[in-house]
Amino acid sequence: MIEDTKRILSDLIAFPTVSADSNLEMIAYLADRLAGCGAKVDIQTDETGRKANLFATLGPDCDGGIVLSGHSDVVPVTDQDWTSDPFVMTERDGRLYGRGTCDMKGFIAATLAMAPTFAQQVQDKPVHFAFTYDEETGCIGAGQLAQSLIAREIKPRLAIIGEPTEMRVIEGHKGCCEYTTRFQGLEGHGSAPDLGVNAAEYAVRYVSRLLDLRDRLQGMAPETSRFEPPWTTINVGALHSGSVHNVIPPKAQIDWEMRPVQTSDADFVKDAMTRYCNDVLLPAMRRVHPDATIETEVIGEVAGLVPTEVNEARQILLELTGVNGTDLVPFGTEAGIFQSLGMDVVVCGPGSINQAHKADEYLALDQLAQCLTVLEKLGHKLKRSH
Ligand SMILES: [Zn+2]
Repeated sequence: MIEDTKRILSDLIAFPTVSADSNLEMIAYLADRLAGCGAKVDIQTDETGRKANLFATLGPDCDGGIVLSGHSDVVPVTDQDWTSDPFVMTERDGRLYGRGTCDMKGFIAATLAMAPTFAQQVQDKPVHFAFTYDEETGCIGAGQLAQSLIAREIKPRLAIIGEPTEMRVIEGHKGCCEYTTRFQGLEGHGSAPDLGVNAAEYAVRYVSRLLDLRDRLQGMAPETSRFEPPWTTINVGALHSGSVHNVIPPKAQIDWEMRPVQTSDADFVKDAMTRYCNDVLLPAMRRVHPDATIETEVIGEVAGLVPTEVNEARQILLELTGVNGTDLVPFGTEAGIFQSLGMDVVVCGPGSINQAHKADEYLALDQLAQCLTVLEKLGHKLKRSH
């Protein structure tokens, strides 16, 4: 099984499905293989027609069953120093190197390698495969997938999201909210700052306010929080503005994110920033230039995975993996979206998040083998209802 999985993974790595680009070729490949095992395959394209989700079902057309889910997109390799071609899977020292090996084509390859076996084992409850687009840019594909499951009244009972957890069973993570804030000021000569509206300076004040809030959030963590760190975090990921020394930059853009441990924290930050813009920054900008604006675009607001008292997926995965407890993780996944559809959800997949998004991303072969063992055990369970 591991050799099959490696071959499939090597094929998947060769599709350069960076979030900005099309994933259609990879989706067609996945669809082909799943249809070949007898799965019913549904492909949903986005409005551009360049990206698609795949939802495939083995077994009966009924409620219940399990979803095996992964995202098809990967983060860019720009400005990263790779030892070998990131889109050619390379095996060295018991590791498979390549962009997306651990995050998270390894899991997808393992489920695909198991699909023919699942097709034999599946009985009264279906096994679904959900492969999405644009997870890395805000779980956009999973949002569309959720809408379509609601519309088609498909109600799976359980979901495993195969993000890299080193096969630990994860029952909770923070939400992930991403924003782009754009400033429109007024261009001018550097020698006359008062005659322009310097978008870079207003952007810096905005960032400074975000950092103040970040400090305050540290004191707002719920006492029972098991998250690491226990509080809501904020990160400023990019700041763009200006061109040369002596021109007042008329535009600026900040890409930032927060990872709320509770919804109230997200509301607190959004309210505070809206008030700061409306009460302080905009009036100052508009004194010089009435058309000045600050606009925040929501790139994605992804729900957290909230740990719950009863979680059948947790129970099953604890049994199959043999680990004796669950964990939480600080990174976001699509799990909260599946949870919002009423499923019991865990995040559990091969590889370590420490290797994700970095140069020389790799998946250790023993991780892949562990994942296959768990999926094989899951296959035996398919004969029983859940
Ligand atoms: Zn991922």
